[in-house]
Amino acid sequence: MISKSIKVAVLGCIILLTSCKEEQKKYDKLMTNNILLQEWEGSYQGTPAFDKMDVADVKEAVEKGMKLQLQEIDAIANNEHDPTFENTIAAMESAGKPLDRVFTYYGIMSSNMSSPEFREVQAELAPKLSEFRSKISQNEKLFQRIKAVYEASQENPLESQEQRVVDLTYKQFEMNGANLDTEKKKRYAEINKELSTLYTKFSNNVLHDEENYVTYLTNDQLGGLSDSFIKSAAKIASDKGQDGKYAITNTRSSMDPFLTYSTNRDLREQVWTNYYARGDNGDDYDNNKIIAEILKLRKERVGLLGYDNYAQWRLQDRMAKNPENAMELMLKVWPAATARVKEEVTDMQKVANELGDNITIEPWDYRYYAEKVRQKKYDLDSDEVKQYLQLDKLTEAMFFVAGELFNYKFTPVEESSVPVFHEDVKVWEVTDKDSGKHIGLWYLDPYAREGKRSGAWATTYRSSTTFEGATNVLASNNSNFVKPAPGESVLVSWDDATTFFHEFGHALHFFAADVKYPTLQGGVRDYTEFQSQLLERWLSTDKVINQFLVHHETGTPIPTELVEKIKKASTFNQGFGTTEYLASALIDMKLHLADPTNIDIDKFERETLDELGMPKELPMRHRTPHFGHVFSGEGYATAYYGYMWADVLTSDASEAFREAEGGFYDKNVADKLVMYLFAPRNAMDPAEAYRKFRGRDAKIEALMRDRGFPVPKS
Ligand SMILES: [Zn+2]
Repeated sequence: MISKSIKVAVLGCIILLTSCKEEQKKYDKLMTNNILLQEWEGSYQGTPAFDKMDVADVKEAVEKGMKLQLQEIDAIANNEHDPTFENTIAAMESAGKPLDRVFTYYGIMSSNMSSPEFREVQAELAPKLSEFRSKISQNEKLFQRIKAVYEASQENPLESQEQRVVDLTYKQFEMNGANLDTEKKKRYAEINKELSTLYTKFSNNVLHDEENYVTYLTNDQLGGLSDSFIKSAAKIASDKGQDGKYAITNTRSSMDPFLTYSTNRDLREQVWTNYYARGDNGDDYDNNKIIAEILKLRKERVGLLGYDNYAQWRLQDRMAKNPENAMELMLKVWPAATARVKEEVTDMQKVANELGDNITIEPWDYRYYAEKVRQKKYDLDSDEVKQYLQLDKLTEAMFFVAGELFNYKFTPVEESSVPVFHEDVKVWEVTDKDSGKHIGLWYLDPYAREGKRSGAWATTYRSSTTFEGATNVLASNNSNFVKPAPGESVLVSWDDATTFFHEFGHALHFFAADVKYPTLQGGVRDYTEFQSQLLERWLSTDKVINQFLVHHETGTPIPTELVEKIKKASTFNQGFGTTEYLASALIDMKLHLADPTNIDIDKFERETLDELGMPKELPMRHRTPHFGHVFSGEGYATAYYGYMWADVLTSDASEAFREAEGGFYDKNVADKLVMYLFAPRNAMDPAEAYRKFRGRDAKIEALMRDRGFPVPKS
């Protein structure tokens, strides 16, 4: 979650030996007393002092951290010696450590433990941070030095990792306006500042609507809901001061099971409407105008650099290379996906008619009747499957897979030996199974709580690099499972189990990194989901099923017939899944290819979906007004297609395992997996890395087969 995109400068005194003492004094003065800036202490090369973090320290820490880093930058930029890789690029890689540390805490306070106080500080800091980044990315002297190193390396290439850092650093400065004249640079910085404020507003509006549209049920409105769901809904309601009621919160993890099981159609409509209207309620928290403003500013900004549109600028260093390639892939799959929706709706309508429900399938009916079709067609009861999916066992299963493929061993650290930010967070040490070599720590924050953002994600507090001595990895996984009543196991859906594996894939990608410089840790957006998506496949391997998917009461493994049904059912509802996803990905791309002058977001979304032939029975997975991937920052802007891009690789790579003698546990393929697909991160061009793994480029056919779609003739 923490962007290391602009890494800057070693301590000034390393570079400017003459003024070393002065620099050191200034440095010490800034570092005093603020825990968030300080070096991490304790075992495991030091870990974040999560137990001591305080919102009250954030503002000062960020401001001082920025100041320190700018001092470091100046020292590099003003170095009187000729620019070299060491005194410029490596120095930049080494810089900014205190601010990086602050951002570890900042990330927790923004994603895991948000509060009104923090959001206030965050809103205040957002424009300052953006200004800070601009100061670095638009530092003329610094850029001239980078350019000199880059140009020299074109004559005399450096060793491959060094060369790649130089290339990536130069490209990034260029993409961020370093080659612009003074006037344009000024406007560029202004735009970024405005954007960062808008991003913060956007996400706070979504969070507001998630927290403020709770549906409270009474005793007679619980039809169809499972006992565990009811129990947790009761607990949430009582936590919110509504004893005796049941709360359906406005998040995916509450909405999804409710819409799947509730027999009360009016309530389904209400919960659905609340969820899909987030950021779109025409009040103070409405995001439509903010989005239009964001699109205009983005277009203006890339226009300064000479690009026609944001997508063109964004995709140049992605695996897809340009928007045309991304659109081509999406539009190849779209007709098969929407055709499948038609079949699914027909099946559901039939079930509804047989039940005498006298309805026409509406979007709030999709999950409900899909579940009925699933039970009928595949005789698969999600709730029965859940009985075999315990969070603890799934965690063990992931450790097993990591042991088989990566040779890792996970051992719980002694309680309270590593500080955590909440009592629910647990920590494991990761070591090599044979040598016992320490690799890092894995933090797990499994449960939903107020102030935690929805969904699941992975992040690092420290990444592995070797250029200043090998560092260990501190990686975390975060989810929103509903915390069970004391003594009960957490039972999760097949989808949630898949996501749990997915996020663990990100963590393994962090642990397996074998790169020298922080910049090479960076993810390539349409490639970085591939590794995690691939790891999902191990959930349904026989070894995992037989050992870890056991009944939470009896301990018996999941029956083979049920597993067969799950496997058979894996292509079920792919019309829904693929279409709701692709609709979001297509809108993301089309919004950024469109002319944003006078754009009406609501109208644009509606008309574009019409043109595409979006089936009326389902919505986009993320409607534009709450599409946080795209508008709460730039992380996934014109990049949501990346999940499918990565999925093509995933399906194709899975077939490499399926075809191998040892299947998903084949040692030879696993070694290649680690060596080419996980360890290099961005130290190697992704297309080249994939070719080394597979012996050829990925093909789309495996993806179509996986989803049960007809394979197009090439
Ligand atoms: Zn992911």
